[in-house]
Amino acid sequence: MLCDFHTHSVYSGDAKATLRDMVSSAKRMGLRYYGVSEHFDVDEFSIKLYGGSIDMAAYFMCARALQGGENGEDFTFYAGGEFNFMPEDKVYDTFNRIWDTYHPDYVINSVHVVDGAECSQAAYFEGKSKQYAYSRYLEQVRRSLDAPYPYDIVGHLGYVSRRAPYPDKKIRYADFADLYDDILKTIINKGKILEVNSSARGAESEFLPDTDVLTRYFALGGRRISFGSDAHWEARIGEKYGLVCAALKSLGFTALANPCGGEIPLEVPDEI
Ligand SMILES: [Zn+2]
Ligand SMILES: [Zn+2]
Repeated sequence: MLCDFHTHSVYSGDAKATLRDMVSSAKRMGLRYYGVSEHFDVDEFSIKLYGGSIDMAAYFMCARALQGGENGEDFTFYAGGEFNFMPEDKVYDTFNRIWDTYHPDYVINSVHVVDGAECSQAAYFEGKSKQYAYSRYLEQVRRSLDAPYPYDIVGHLGYVSRRAPYPDKKIRYADFADLYDDILKTIINKGKILEVNSSARGAESEFLPDTDVLTRYFALGGRRISFGSDAHWEARIGEKYGLVCAALKSLGFTALANPCGGEIPLEVPDEI
């Protein structure tokens, strides 16, 4: 296992392990590059929904101290953030201010909230057909790509399908081809990284986005891909890394992107 760029510690309210424990576990597991991407929820709706927001100063102080002690030749820990996208000027200003103040090593831009609801919760789907619920989500992702603040990675594309109530909840490229093409081409044109997220809980996929979307991304010329487990505790760090690497390799990808610079060879571990 070489890398994981999407994980959380207790600085994100919903995670279970301390930052120190997450970092030392990653190191022990033999990861070469390890990134923590705490939740940054800055709009009023999300702060209320998730029950608060991160203590940014404490997080970065702890993370920078750990980097001083843990980073070496074989292990690099990055202190990143998962910015919760909302199409509001106030939110854009806040994210820019956070970036200027703390300079996170990298930023994952993620859509969790659409039409005033968290789109992995039941309320989001009330009265919505699958086609409508998923296209509204994808439209919000498309909007998020134009966010006027620095970001590197597009987080968990397909998140809306994780807990959707439909009998066939899988989100497919073929059902939203135009929207997906617009999203994928924009990611490529802007030089951003498409994340493959192995926390697909209930999405009827092993990872998000699934191979149909990744196939199209590759065909359009997309090569920048990052791996993220979305682990909220130690045991899930790097989960399905081998499975994702094997899938990416079979699609033609030869490397993973490091959002902090450079490429990571796409090596499929012996044990998947
Ligand atoms: Zn997320
Ligand atoms: Zn996350």
